[in-house]
Amino acid sequence: MSPDPVGIWLIGAWGGVSTTAVVGLAALQHRPASETALVSALPAFRLLDLAEWGRFVVGGHEIRRTGYALEARKLHDESRVFSRELLSGVSGPLDSFDRNVRTGTLLGVGRTIESLASDDARATSGERPREAIERLSADLNAFREAHNLAHVIVVNLASTEPTLDEDLTGLTWQQLSDRLNHNDPLLPASSLYAISAMLAECSYLNFTPSVGSNLPALDELAREQGVLHMGRDGKTGETLLKSVLAPMFAARNLKVLSWVGHNIFGNMDARVLDDPVNKASKARSKDHLLTEILGYKPQTLVSIEFIESLADWKTAWDHIHFEGFLGTQMTMQFIWQGCDSLLAAPLVLDLVRFTEREWRRGTSGVMTHLASFFKSPMGEHIPPEFGRQFELLLAWAAEAAGKSPDG
Ligand code: NAD
Repeated sequence: MSPDPVGIWLIGAWGGVSTTAVVGLAALQHRPASETALVSALPAFRLLDLAEWGRFVVGGHEIRRTGYALEARKLHDESRVFSRELLSGVSGPLDSFDRNVRTGTLLGVGRTIESLASDDARATSGERPREAIERLSADLNAFREAHNLAHVIVVNLASTEPTLDEDLTGLTWQQLSDRLNHNDPLLPASSLYAISAMLAECSYLNFTPSVGSNLPALDELAREQGVLHMGRDGKTGETLLKSVLAPMFAARNLKVLSWVGHNIFGNMDARVLDDPVNKASKARSKDHLLTEILGYKPQTLVSIEFIESLADWKTAWDHIHFEGFLGTQMTMQFIWQGCDSLLAAPLVLDLVRFTEREWRRGTSGVMTHLASFFKSPMGEHIPPEFGRQFELLLAWAAEAAGKSPDG
């Protein structure tokens, strides 16, 4: 008998990264498709018995009314990704996944994200936080029942929210829950989605810099509910390079004097990040790494600019000024040009596969072994260097496959 299907529930279901992940998944399910860029397809993970691509079913929450075929066509037209042949070959599965998308919540998202919403999402704006949580949880339970799913993994791929005004790290789940019962609008949508997921016994991954489940109270809830969670902010481009290059400067005792990174791109994510309150969350997530790796703080500047004509193509230009032997100053520069959604989508599919595997092991709480996928990984004692983070994943895989870490 074949194993039960597994649900992937995308928050921001029709956004650029979600659409690309869904097109990629449908291609892997229905056509001969390359597994290049999928970490979970590496030989190191072959013995893990990861779920086959064909087992996954997609659903999600959105605040705009559109559809996968339309959004994929836009990516094709504006950013020259996906062949027409690929898109026509996956149109059936895309339509069936569209039918599983439900209206999300706008609570705590801020004005810029609200301005994207269609009427059905705006109509929910009178909901109290507790009512929103109940509705979103009910959507997840209905998805699980309708498709007979063994487990559902919720992935936050929604637009980046403004930072929190209040420090909520001192609250227990009971205290947070009491405040929600009293209609206290303290949490942004990303955290309301995380709570809804956990209450519906789903695991939760946060690919964005928004707060999501990154609160001690929500880790407590995850453990209570026996589910897994991890975040934040997918590490796909410039920060990936920083986490690889900064350890080299440290190991060669080269003193980094300044590190300037300018990022330009033109998709909807960039449009939202053009609002300074949303941008602050992203810039913070990109900037903390160097001090952690180097052990001192060089002068840094991170800029993120919306340049519409570039669409989904992001260019990062980094200028690293450093001091070498006998005080001689030198420079390294790099230019990274990548298609944002195509860099992120395979990682989303990997994260879901690794989470499903860990869920079968019966653990709960933060999945620190997934740190290499995130710019600001959750959990304690996580090394900031990419290489050491990847070793955590390899060690986990060896353990999960029942081998010693040395093979
Ligand atoms: P996008 O703007 O194309 O998609 C975001 C989607 O979320 C939109 O469809 C929007 O309507 C929807 N949305 C917004 N608020 C919502 C809510 N409260 N509930 C439900 N849906 C909501 O952005 P994207 O390029 O797909 O990126 C998605 C997220 O991933 C962003 O937060 C981005 O910062 C993060 N991220 C992307 C990359 C990458 O693309 N390489 C890397 C790291 C992190």
